[in-house]
Amino acid sequence: MPPPVPGPGRPAAGRVVTAKVTVVAPDDLLEATTADVRAEARALRAKAHGTTVTYSPKVFIPLTMLCRDRCGYCTFAKPPARLHAPYLTPDEVLAVARAGMAAGCHEALFTLGEAPEERYPVARRWLTDHGHASTVDYLAAMCALVRDETGLLPHANAGALGHDDLTRLRSVSASQGMMLESLDPDLACHRGAPDKTPARRLATLEAAGELAIPFTTGVLVGIGESRAERVRALSAIADAHRRHGHIQEVIVQNFLPKPGTAMHDHPPCPPEELWWTIAVARVVLPSDIHVQAPPNLSDDLRPLLDSGLDDWGGVSPVTVDHVNPERAWPALDVLRAATEAAGLSLAARLTVYPEFALDPVRWLDPAMRFAVLDRSDAEGLGREDPWCSGGTDAPPTLVGATVMAGPQRAGGGGAVAEVLAGVDLGHEVGEDEIVTLFSARGPEVRAVAEAADRVRRAEVGDVVTWVANRNINYTNVCTFKCRFCAFSKGPLSLNLRGAPYLLELGDITERVAEAEALGATEVCLQGGIHPSFDGDYYLEVIRAVRAASERIHIHAFTALEVTEGARRLGEPLVDYLTRLKEAGLATLPGTAAEILDDEVRAVLCPDKINTEEWLEAHRAAHSVGLRSNVTIMFGAVEQPRSWARHLVRTRDLQRETGGFTEFVPLPFVHMAAPIYLQRKARRGPTFRETLLMHAVGRIAYRGWIPNIQVSWVKMGAAGVIQALRSGANDLGGTLMDENISRAAGASHGQRMDEGGFRALVEPLGRTLEQRTTLYGRATAPI
Ligand code: SF4
Repeated sequence: MPPPVPGPGRPAAGRVVTAKVTVVAPDDLLEATTADVRAEARALRAKAHGTTVTYSPKVFIPLTMLCRDRCGYCTFAKPPARLHAPYLTPDEVLAVARAGMAAGCHEALFTLGEAPEERYPVARRWLTDHGHASTVDYLAAMCALVRDETGLLPHANAGALGHDDLTRLRSVSASQGMMLESLDPDLACHRGAPDKTPARRLATLEAAGELAIPFTTGVLVGIGESRAERVRALSAIADAHRRHGHIQEVIVQNFLPKPGTAMHDHPPCPPEELWWTIAVARVVLPSDIHVQAPPNLSDDLRPLLDSGLDDWGGVSPVTVDHVNPERAWPALDVLRAATEAAGLSLAARLTVYPEFALDPVRWLDPAMRFAVLDRSDAEGLGREDPWCSGGTDAPPTLVGATVMAGPQRAGGGGAVAEVLAGVDLGHEVGEDEIVTLFSARGPEVRAVAEAADRVRRAEVGDVVTWVANRNINYTNVCTFKCRFCAFSKGPLSLNLRGAPYLLELGDITERVAEAEALGATEVCLQGGIHPSFDGDYYLEVIRAVRAASERIHIHAFTALEVTEGARRLGEPLVDYLTRLKEAGLATLPGTAAEILDDEVRAVLCPDKINTEEWLEAHRAAHSVGLRSNVTIMFGAVEQPRSWARHLVRTRDLQRETGGFTEFVPLPFVHMAAPIYLQRKARRGPTFRETLLMHAVGRIAYRGWIPNIQVSWVKMGAAGVIQALRSGANDLGGTLMDENISRAAGASHGQRMDEGGFRALVEPLGRTLEQRTTLYGRATAPI
């Protein structure tokens, strides 16, 4: 039976030089002082993992407590007479998993004894009666059941296995694990445990690597092994990882004696020995392997952090640690407080670490990829709450009414704090620094938000603006195949979300007149690219709208629409835009930008204009005196590097033209988006990512784009309030008839009014003002 898995090369021989400290080589570790090794481990952690310390919210499913091994320290394994049944039934398994799902867990940790059917006839009989050839056979069935019924990600911890069993489990689990424990072949505690021979454990590690299984392993400390043996075991793990790259984490677990075991009177692992081993693990293992120690097996968490760990392993709000039932999991807020007290940030992860989750083709069976994607954030860590863009779940409170003071204000002592220190000095953030800001977690998120709020106040003061406008989506028929778009219909499709339509010019002008009568100062016209359109269509629409109203501001046509219009007429874009302007077009919406990074566009919207074409359309518009805005649709498939490129590219164009009026983050609404329904996208950005997009946008565009807009359609009231505290200063439009977000599944209504905006803004001590499209005071439509 493997010990608990509450939750990934070796430095070259000789001295390894790091950013801050010279590391002692493995062979010399035994001579180094514990203080030196721990200091080095902290420096290595900071370099490899920054300030993030992870944990996995999980449920623990002890599928069977029968085991053919007899380990001297174990109370998990029990004889059949002490169990009500040899195995948990599928209903019992599902009940635990469902409780975990309700509690916000991501992982279903299956821990079980090794091959009990080889020792106990009752186990063999139970398996036969239930149609399973082996314990691993039943385990695979239960992993699939939990994945399919709850979405929890199974982690299979089934001990020493061969290729066939590992392969079988790979198709139904996101990761697997087996403690190496020790390479000492003479340990008394393993004499009755045929699966605990070093050769068998090493063979399992090797096979897992050959099969590209993200793998968890670890060492037990204080079961009679020497320090040298521990270094040898860690070095063997490092070697296996160097060959295959598959070790995601190494658990350093301290032995505690338990009554009723052969080792009941063996002394517990001294804390200093545990701390030394955690630090040595960090020094010996390659930097991409995470180092973990179970938080429930130590009374004081700080020394563990000070020894260089970067993961707390699995922590369950639902189930006990069945291997150490006498040791309760620490409450999450205790874990968070201890982590933050050390200047670090706590982040939820999946059972599979980001290095593996973000490379699914290599590391995950096709049957597991969407299950992992669906629980991932943009960095491959776990989503931390149920909020999603356009949904009805309340967001977590990440930015409150009170402003942080002292060291907290800087966001701790890591890379985020360094970038914020530069921001406070007035430095412009570059692509790498933007990526760093997007990595903020815990108190760092507030620090970024508050820095953005200071920039907002300095740039535009305390006024929050809104515009009275109406959306007119004149057709939902489109020849393009954007994979995120739930709005468009092929010309012939009739489906559950409504029929294809094309408004007559008369319908459009009627809506314009209605909007003006209701006080709108702007109409926003956008639609699909109808196959029957030529460029003259767009001109006709503008002329018709202008004929219907002399005064209303015409905010119309994306970069795609004007590019297509000019192309279909064979006319230079600048000439075409000039004619549109002369007809009455005043500004262009910045939509169709999605993510201005062609690697991402190739996935999201392969047949649409590329990054340079979008930028060129806006450059051309600005050159003829048409202003526009920047949008970003984020949170579907991309990572923060692409967000940073988007911000930097649009900022560069703004430096050139000065034509952008505002930045509008548009968090991806997943519910009805085809790419999500095809199981190829995440469920939009997390609330943390969405808030950071407003804040980082404010910081990145400082001095260039003065207005940051928050979308109430996608964020809801509670989200808007936090965005207004994170750099946003504009609420966008009243949006009578908002169709595009609703088509994607958003549920925050079709219309807002001044009273609704006032209720959001005034409690913040800010002043609400109606604006024109170009941020003048709206006394009359322009
Ligand atoms: S996003 Fe626009 S261009 Fe793409 S399919 Fe939808 S309507 Fe067409």
